[in-house]
Amino acid sequence: MPRIAVYDYLAHREITVSLSRWQMFKFKIAGRRFFAMRKEEDWSAAMPFYLAKCIRHGYYLDYPKGGKERLTCHKCFQEEVEKARNKRLKAKK
Ligand SMILES: [Zn+2]
Repeated sequence: MPRIAVYDYLAHREITVSLSRWQMFKFKIAGRRFFAMRKEEDWSAAMPFYLAKCIRHGYYLDYPKGGKERLTCHKCFQEEVEKARNKRLKAKK
């Protein structure tokens, strides 16, 4: 059974997920795969977390946000935050 390394940003670590070849095939076509319902302490309800793949950072977990039910790679998001912060710092100088 293929095992893939997935970045779990809630746990801040990589986890290993096993998918059968058939599950992997379906995941590649759909682009996402339901992982688990999860609830953070400050959330009012549990959210469905999905497995997805970033072309730059590999597999990750996220829950759909916004009207388009978009999944975002947390590492890409962090890079954007970092970029915006650097821009702000430069503008101040
Ligand atoms: Zn990414």
